[in-house]
Amino acid sequence: MPQELLFFFLEAYFIMKAQVKPKTRGFVCVTAHPEGCAAHVKQQIEIAKNKAPLANGPKNVLILGCSTGYGLASRIAAAFLGNAATLGVCFERPSEKGRPASAGWYNTAAFEQEAKEAGLYAKTINGDAFSKEIKEQTIKTLKEEMGPIDLVVYSLASPRRTDPETGETHKSTLKPIGEIFTGTHLDTDKAALVDVSIEPANPEEVAATVKVMGGEDWELWMEALSQAGILAPNVQTVNYSYLGPEITWDIYKNGTIGKAKEDIEATAQRLNKLLEPQSGKAMISVNKAVVTQASSAIPVVPLYISILFKIMKEQGLHEDCIEQMVRLFTDHLYSEQGPQLDDQGRIRLDDWEMRADIQAAVMEQWPAITTENLKAETDFAGYQENFLRLFGFGLPGINYEEEVELEVDIPSQGVKA
Ligand code: NAD
Repeated sequence: MPQELLFFFLEAYFIMKAQVKPKTRGFVCVTAHPEGCAAHVKQQIEIAKNKAPLANGPKNVLILGCSTGYGLASRIAAAFLGNAATLGVCFERPSEKGRPASAGWYNTAAFEQEAKEAGLYAKTINGDAFSKEIKEQTIKTLKEEMGPIDLVVYSLASPRRTDPETGETHKSTLKPIGEIFTGTHLDTDKAALVDVSIEPANPEEVAATVKVMGGEDWELWMEALSQAGILAPNVQTVNYSYLGPEITWDIYKNGTIGKAKEDIEATAQRLNKLLEPQSGKAMISVNKAVVTQASSAIPVVPLYISILFKIMKEQGLHEDCIEQMVRLFTDHLYSEQGPQLDDQGRIRLDDWEMRADIQAAVMEQWPAITTENLKAETDFAGYQENFLRLFGFGLPGINYEEEVELEVDIPSQGVKA
């Protein structure tokens, strides 16, 4: 065999199969394990399947941001609790030149495979959900293959958004407004508490964060779906928010991201008008703090979560994304009495997190936590395990020493990564 050909085959072999270990850089892990991600998806599916199926669940569900975190869990709940056909939109990276794909890619491949085996329709559109092209492609697929949609879940979390009209790219920031923020942050790489101080955002940064994480794109989606005549009677749409305890407010609720969350609440009110002809509803669900790719980037949150998880686990109240989404579908969206709303019209899945006794215990612990007692006094270990699981690491039954196929097919895309 000519030498070049031999090298070609050797390269092809080594590029496709490799041992994958976690490589974390601050709050991101740049590798993902295909089989581990599939096992993580299966774990979540089992949790949904172990609950009583929805008697009157949705038939056709569109999930924007379907590949990780709350969006993936929403898709799993819709499919495996509600028997729904799902169309998902996400923005994930395939495997390239011997690099693993992103976790969301592997999750989506695994979800579709499981859905197919269960006889459920599942298709995914991988591309920029903020763009006109992806909206058009989604609507075309809905019209040709699915029919009217009875639930639209908006679960995008992105650091940037290109405005489809102007072509300008806006970047979101996680900053306080008005005053400098000083607080304690957990450096998860070093397992150390560090003092942080973050300069307040200027008005342009506030506006840009609202542009990215506020309600504009949600509204554009719902208008496009409505104009296409693809919304079913009694359609529901839900977008996710977070409020959290006072200790996080300077950086979250009263910061740039909080402004974006205020904007989605105002958007929900406008969408309720838009959906009147279908007797539809637009809702905000305030979810609990969980470890996701998006939340690990927020200052203060990893320390808060480490303390919170210990207390909620001790009380038997611990939930991850899937348990929250099971409650959203069962107790609210598809319950007999309909969604239970707070005085501002929001679903409160953070009710257990915000319980007075839970928060009192968190606040009592907070000032006493130091780098030295972090591991003993908080659930930092649980935080780290949870973080690594997002990328498919630490799952039982997976041999992480073995080489694995990096290129994994997302069945509905019909192409290899
Ligand atoms: P995540 O990072 O796990 O998921 C983000 C999703 O958005 C992924 O599916 C990703 O592919 C998709 N996405 C990002 N940019 C995209 C683009 N341009 N086009 C298409 N898809 C794109 O995030 P998450 O933590 O699950 O957050 C989802 C929502 O839940 C956010 O609104 C967040 O504020 C909210 N929330 C999160 C928490 C928490 O603790 N994580 C708590 C309450 C509410």
